[in-house]
Amino acid sequence: MEKHGKITKVSGPLVLASGMEAAQVYDVVYVGHKKLMGEVIELRDDIASIQVYEETAGVGPGEPVFFTEQPLSATLGPGLIEGVFDGILRPLDKVYEKAGDLIASGVTVEPLDLKKKWTFIPVKKKGDKVTAGQMIGYVDETTVVRHKIMVPPNVEGELIFVAKEGEYTIEDVVYKLKNKDVEKGYTMVQKWPVRVGRPYSKKLPPTEPMITGQRIIDTLFPIAIGGIAAIPGPFGSGKTVVQHQLAKWADADIIVYVGCGERGNEMTDVLNEFPKLVDPKTGEPLMKRTVLIANTSNMPVAAREASIYTGITIAEYFRDMGYKVAIMADSTSRWAEALREMSSRLEEMPGEEGYPAYLGSRLAEFYERAGLVETIGDKNHGAVSAIGAVSPPGGDMSEPVTQATLRIVKVFWGLSSDLANRRHFPAIDWLRSYTLYDDVIMDSFDSIKDGWSGQVNKTMALLNEEKELEEIVRLVGIDTLSKADRVKLLTTQMIREDFLHQNAFDEIDTYTSVDKQYGMLEIILFWHKLATNKVNAGAALSSVENMQVKQRISRLKYVPEDKFKKTLDKLYSELKEEFSNLERE
Ligand code: ADP
Repeated sequence: MEKHGKITKVSGPLVLASGMEAAQVYDVVYVGHKKLMGEVIELRDDIASIQVYEETAGVGPGEPVFFTEQPLSATLGPGLIEGVFDGILRPLDKVYEKAGDLIASGVTVEPLDLKKKWTFIPVKKKGDKVTAGQMIGYVDETTVVRHKIMVPPNVEGELIFVAKEGEYTIEDVVYKLKNKDVEKGYTMVQKWPVRVGRPYSKKLPPTEPMITGQRIIDTLFPIAIGGIAAIPGPFGSGKTVVQHQLAKWADADIIVYVGCGERGNEMTDVLNEFPKLVDPKTGEPLMKRTVLIANTSNMPVAAREASIYTGITIAEYFRDMGYKVAIMADSTSRWAEALREMSSRLEEMPGEEGYPAYLGSRLAEFYERAGLVETIGDKNHGAVSAIGAVSPPGGDMSEPVTQATLRIVKVFWGLSSDLANRRHFPAIDWLRSYTLYDDVIMDSFDSIKDGWSGQVNKTMALLNEEKELEEIVRLVGIDTLSKADRVKLLTTQMIREDFLHQNAFDEIDTYTSVDKQYGMLEIILFWHKLATNKVNAGAALSSVENMQVKQRISRLKYVPEDKFKKTLDKLYSELKEEFSNLERE
């Protein structure tokens, strides 16, 4: 750190320094005698605006700013999984150990444990020619995650050394490459600038649904593998439960959870609760395939701003190993507030509600890094699916962060306080939510279950009609409805209560396979058809309303997967029999 500039002004997390012409935007610098970590976010002539990731109290004009000539980067390698980090990838436990309760300024800690030994197993040998992204060997990082040691992007050559199977730290050289007479050793770790997307061979169109086992999501508003979704969560609407359900059940190998909490205790909840979650696929703690990034309110806003880029860089890194990764950012509103605060300190021209004009493009830069790709090197398929929570103040969806998010994402799961108050969970409002993936992934669903899309369309049509019918009932009373319309209301009640409502805390109801989802909905719609025919043929509404079989349908959600088919078959016979008994009456 030879070169340095000089602080001219300190304004909270923003520091101005002169003599910075040799720096570049997004370079990391160390600020003041305390050497606080910061990032150059703007350069005008020799004056740099630096966002500092630590508390700047006690730092003043005249102090030096040291150059690193490196962009803000994530350290990627074994030790990420099960880790709990702050927004600039400092392990929280280490920071606390060193600094006590609050994160002290200028604490430098290594992101990954330097002493821990990992069992490296080579798959390539001396003499092999390798290109960027190819796997040299692997480490079984946890019982569920095989961490592939890949040639870093933009590197290639001939292997002149590969370590033999054994125990190594992340500082040990495990392979050496020779390229045009230059020989260089590599460890199990690589660095990547967080604000730049990692390269891939090609982006593939998302065509497969990411099955989540949550009925309203999979059936009505599915997300694709590599897709992007937003979920706004007014307080108490069940946002946390939905996110936990997705983390546990969604078809993803790796979970990256980025928490930006306003109040300290929101984050404490995450830090307490996440490690307790059990992975239903393995019975092991979910942390064994999770990376947690947590920003609490007592951390400077700038670290919060960086956290979503750090998170998505980690997600891309595991994608490059050919994994399906799901990243959850909770909440992007808190992230946007950090952006707003930095922008106002920079004295930029404020846009709507004080957010900078580039709010939308910054959000897009994050979400656009999601996707299904063919990886460089080994040409595997890897995916990053991104789910961003938004917390619109007062539930007002017209505010800038929600609006900017909606312009980018393709799936919207709108949580409604109204449904939550009525204890209808998950409180995803079927009339406001949408998915733009249905065109591309319906074929995939139809190939799993013939008739899937027809059934979904029918269900959505009924739910939309319910709203109109309710309006009529409200205005002129229920007696004006035809019997067929009354049957529709009975059916939508069944759709809502027996299908869409799903108890996350019930051992069986918590997850529903696609087959079971289809079967549950099919029998409700079949009942609808027969009941409609019946009343149209003159039967009294009460005769269908009070059928025994309706009770049985409502219990289907609690039938275990392995008994479901048999139970459903039996229920169909009972249903037909009960209808034909009505005939005789
Ligand atoms: P938020 O994070 O939006 O403040 P939570 O996710 O903590 O809200 O949910 C609040 C409460 O609602 C939970 O403690 C739980 O009792 C109930 N709840 C939410 N979702 C479900 C669900 N899918 N099944 C059962 N109960 C739920």
